[in-house]
Amino acid sequence: MQKGRLLPLHKRRLLQEAQAAYKLLKLEKMYSSSSYNSSPIDFAMPSIKTGDICSVRLEGTHPGIAKVLEIKEESGVKTCKIQWFYRAIQDLELSHDFLGSNELFISNLIQNVDLACIDCKVDVVSLEEYKTLDKSDSDLYFTRASYDPKKKTVNPTFSRWKRVCYCKKPENPDKEFINCAKCHALFHLACIGDFFGKYLCKKCTKNN
Ligand SMILES: [Zn+2]
Ligand SMILES: [Zn+2]
Repeated sequence: MQKGRLLPLHKRRLLQEAQAAYKLLKLEKMYSSSSYNSSPIDFAMPSIKTGDICSVRLEGTHPGIAKVLEIKEESGVKTCKIQWFYRAIQDLELSHDFLGSNELFISNLIQNVDLACIDCKVDVVSLEEYKTLDKSDSDLYFTRASYDPKKKTVNPTFSRWKRVCYCKKPENPDKEFINCAKCHALFHLACIGDFFGKYLCKKCTKNN
């Protein structure tokens, strides 16, 4: 995904409000129209299209995140084929401290749902891009691996994830980091203790 596609937080909120208002308007029109039986209800929000990643609400479950693969209309009913994302903490119940709170895993689980279940659009970016963006927006997620719910496996497996810092753990973007001023390697603030000014890692201090 390109950086330029992300809207700033206030614009995204405005867009969501406009989408909600649009839904309401459609409902109002439907109920005020004397011939609403003959006109199919169109819940489709103008901005939802194939390839979008959205928040999805199925009755009786917590909202999830899924990619819209296809939008279909059969006898006036709009449905869409979606591919689910799993959230590390909520859905996989994994408690590794290197997993981010907004980390997602694309799965091979595909489902057909009513288009009305599709909520607002969200943004899913790579870990590298996520680190450079404003995290105050809760609709911003990142992904670095996929999940197979049948086999219960993460791909690539955790052992193959890139490791950082002296603790040699995969990077968690929720934690505070600093780069070594010389080799630019990444270190958790919690792992390096006190320092003043620029930080030089142990290796670079030795070779200085
Ligand atoms: Zn560390
Ligand atoms: Zn260094």
